[in-house]
Order: sequence, then C-alpha cells, then structure tokens
Amino acid sequence: MNKAFEDFLGWTCANEWGSEETQKKKLNNGVTLSIWDSGVLEVTPPKPGKKDIVLSCAVHGNETAPIEICRDIINDIITEKQTVIHRTLFLIANPASINKGERFVEENMNRLFSGAHSNGKAHNKERERAAKIEQYVKRFYETSPEGERERLHYDLHTAIRDSKREKFAVYPFTHGKPYNKHQLQFLLACGVDTVLLNQAPTTTFSYFSVNEFNAHAFTVELGKVRPFGENDRSKFAAAEKTLRRLISEDSLDFGPFEPGKHFIFKEAQTINRMNEDFELNFADDVANFTSFDKGDLLARDGDENLYAQHDGEHIIFPNAKVALGQRALLTVVRVPTESLELE
Ligand SMILES: [Zn+2]
Repeated sequence: MNKAFEDFLGWTCANEWGSEETQKKKLNNGVTLSIWDSGVLEVTPPKPGKKDIVLSCAVHGNETAPIEICRDIINDIITEKQTVIHRTLFLIANPASINKGERFVEENMNRLFSGAHSNGKAHNKERERAAKIEQYVKRFYETSPEGERERLHYDLHTAIRDSKREKFAVYPFTHGKPYNKHQLQFLLACGVDTVLLNQAPTTTFSYFSVNEFNAHAFTVELGKVRPFGENDRSKFAAAEKTLRRLISEDSLDFGPFEPGKHFIFKEAQTINRMNEDFELNFADDVANFTSFDKGDLLARDGDENLYAQHDGEHIIFPNAKVALGQRALLTVVRVPTESLELE
C-alpha cells in the first residue's frame, strides 16, 4: 500500500510544506480517496449525499487532540471501518508546526485567511500554505454535484489555557443572517454548549468559509492543548462520535431546540496591543471565561488603562505577547439565546 494512504498524518508531516505528488485510490466500498497535497484529503462516496463537509485541524500545530481525532477518522475511512456518505475534505493545515510542536512556525495561520496572507510585504511559508488552503476549499465547494447542497466547515482547535467553559465555538460574523439552530444543536452534541458570536469580519479560517462560500462554519475549541498521546480522549468522545455521525448519516436529528441549553456570548471589547509596553492585569494562567466587573482594570497599553465596561465581562484568548497591532484580549458578555434571530 502507498505510504500516504498507509499513514496519512505521518506522510503529511514528512512533507511539511506540501507535496506535488497527487494520489488517488478507490476503496472496495466504492469510496474514492484523493490526495491533493500533504494534509489535504478529499473523500468522495460513490453516491454523495447533500452535504459538502470540510474538517480541518492543525491550523495550530500543537493542538493535538483534533489532529488525533482527524487521524483516527481518516485511518478508519481508509481501512473501511468508517462509512462516509457525504463528500468530505480533511485538511491538516500546518504540518510544519506539528513537527515543531508549536502553535505556528513564523506567523499565526488563523490570522491569514480571506486574503490576509497577501497583505503587506511579509512573506513566509505559512502565508503560502494559507493561500493554497483557500484554493483547496474553493475547489472542494465549487466541484460539488448539482442541486441544493449544504456546505459545512468545522475548524477544530484546542485552547492554550484552561477555560471555565471547557468547550466553546466561535460563530463567525454572519453579516446579519440569522443564526442556525441546527448548527447550535450540532455543536451541543459535540459537547460544545458555549458559543461566542463574532460581531465583525475576521481573518480566521472559519470566517473565510462563511463569507466566501456561504458555509455554516465554526472555530471549535474542544479543550486544552496537550502533547500527542497525553489527551484524555474520553473528553473528546462526544465530538468525535458526532463528527463520525455527520459524515456517515444522511441527516442528524437532535429533537426540539432548547434555548436554555446553549450559552451564548457576544463580543464586548477587542483589546489590541498597540505598544511594546503592554501588560495584562491578571495572572498568566487565568482561565478563559473568567468574569470581571465593570471598572476592573484588564490591561495596560503604554499610558492607557483599559477597563471592563460591563458587569459579567468574561475574558477570552488573553495573550500579552502577540505582535503589535494584534489582539491581546477579547472580552465577551452573555446574551439570552431567546434574544437572537434564529432560523
Ligand atoms: Zn487554535
């Protein structure tokens, strides 16, 4: 058997910035596997269902649990233990950062989409890879069979720090379109009861799929970063099982929508680091979704003090070490699920 189909993740990591060697293989069950590049695997069932599904991992290379989940699902597809009835594109986004065991090599890839890879003068391999990945997603969605189809993209991550709400998803800016109840239920089935609504366009991978392809797309944070082999896979079991159901079942029925089961937050403040002299006013290991009250000092940026503006303002993704101009802290406040426009 060909090495790439024997150990897709291993072959991908051995070709960390890409491979021109495209490869194809038809399984006994009629499923066609097509490798477009290292880390890029298209799975086409003989009679594809109505969904076009993108599952991505390793946009951040040290976020191993999602990589292990994708690796196992891929292996089970190759060995015909896992059925697939919908077209599915697996993307292992940044293999070089997996090899390095770090979040990224030169630049945070999840700030490089929607063309951001070509902004400014900077040039690096992560930018080249992000540009290629955009083309693969485009090719995947644009070569789907005729007829009404549902485009989905789950970009799987784990967070650097502990979180008071262990699993959460980022719902990219919808440009005013209603939020989708079925998607919230899907996330809940994955164990994700907390959803953060973005209020503006971003350069994340999931927003790219929402904005350019009208997909239901999410950045899904499944827990905390750990090294390979140290993940407690039972904590990810619901997500893995639901993803396996997604690719193998015609449609998923989660029963009636129950607003009270979903904890929805929206952005309050984005604090960008504008000065070399920047510090966060809390300990380095403070958990995501820690709550602050109005008037609490959150950060100091040069001469400016930045305060919480609401009671119950929760902090997410604090990182005082980001490059100048980038987001050092996001704060969010809870909104009642009933207050959202849902479809
Ligand atoms: Zn991540």
